[in-house]
Amino acid sequence: MIKKMIPTYFYKSVYDVDYKMLYENGIRLILTDLDNTLISYKETLPNDKLFELKKYIEDMGFEFILVSNSKKSRVDNFAKAYNIPYVKFSMKPLKRGIKKAIKKVAKGKYTKDQIVIFGDQIMTDIFGAGRCGIKSVLIEAIDKSTDIGPTRFNRKLERFFLKRIKKKYPNEYNLKLKEYGDKDDTKKM
Ligand SMILES: [Mg+2]
Repeated sequence: MIKKMIPTYFYKSVYDVDYKMLYENGIRLILTDLDNTLISYKETLPNDKLFELKKYIEDMGFEFILVSNSKKSRVDNFAKAYNIPYVKFSMKPLKRGIKKAIKKVAKGKYTKDQIVIFGDQIMTDIFGAGRCGIKSVLIEAIDKSTDIGPTRFNRKLERFFLKRIKKKYPNEYNLKLKEYGDKDDTKKM
């Protein structure tokens, strides 16, 4: 089970992702998380940098869809302002919301190996991707101090599973999670 929590890639932010590499690896659909992946909980609307990024991604030939676990109106407001198709209350790591994004919103145009999920949480975004058998990009949270209750709990679980992954899959840990997992940021929470 914990193997499904190992991301395919790790990047410090959505701006650091190697999009050319993803494209060359056949990825065409990016399903992105919202909170602490695109904006922090303190922000509500996309900034200029995010608009530039979206244009860059779409010009390259990717389809970009938002998949958020939040059911709040902030998701609707952000998605409308950013002009991005979306699924809210997606219940990651359950497959339901991810499948909805792939089948309904992206109209089933892509096979699993053409899809990647971006997110800042191992317990929801990365595990959800792993359970669906699709690739994932772990993004360092923009501002963990803004995490809300359930996410704080997930971060604790995350620390626990990171240790287990490190022990059981040391090579994969060193390759994909060392930079993320070895950083002790629990004090900031
Ligand atoms: Mg998030």
